[in-house]
Amino acid sequence: MTCLEAQSSIIAYIENRLEKDKKIEFLKHVKNCNDCMEELDIYYTMIEGMHQMDSNLPITRDFRAELEMRIEREFKQDRNKKSFVRSSVFIAVIAVLIFVIAGYINFLNILYEDEQKNIKEQQGDYYYSSYFDDVLFAPDEKILNINIEPEISTEESFYSKIREYNANKK
Ligand SMILES: [Zn+2]
Repeated sequence: MTCLEAQSSIIAYIENRLEKDKKIEFLKHVKNCNDCMEELDIYYTMIEGMHQMDSNLPITRDFRAELEMRIEREFKQDRNKKSFVRSSVFIAVIAVLIFVIAGYINFLNILYEDEQKNIKEQQGDYYYSSYFDDVLFAPDEKILNINIEPEISTEESFYSKIREYNANKK
């Protein structure tokens, strides 16, 4: 902001008619420019003094000090607003991050559960095989173990042995 722009904004500033961004630019300028600060001080004293007299308010003794306090207050308000916006943005970013991380964790859980399900299914095969694989993988042995021929009773074999013996004797 140039001195010309600043000085043309003095009345609007005193009457609180400057837009926020323009006001901050104006305040930054008068803080660093003695000429414009002097000009502002003169107008402020005149306008505020007249306003105070018109409204039967106690007249300020130190307009310059009052003006400087007002400038500081307005700077501080702007900083607070900016830090509020910054913290709002920060909170929003954190919220989005939490949302994304939670979503990712959920996604990982789904993957994990899916994997566990697969493992369990595979283990299920093992589980069944450990119990039944004799039958499943070597059924022939079992069948071979089954004695298909009817067992000759000991009695029968006993007599047949005697008969055999007698036959041989003759
Ligand atoms: Zn200036």
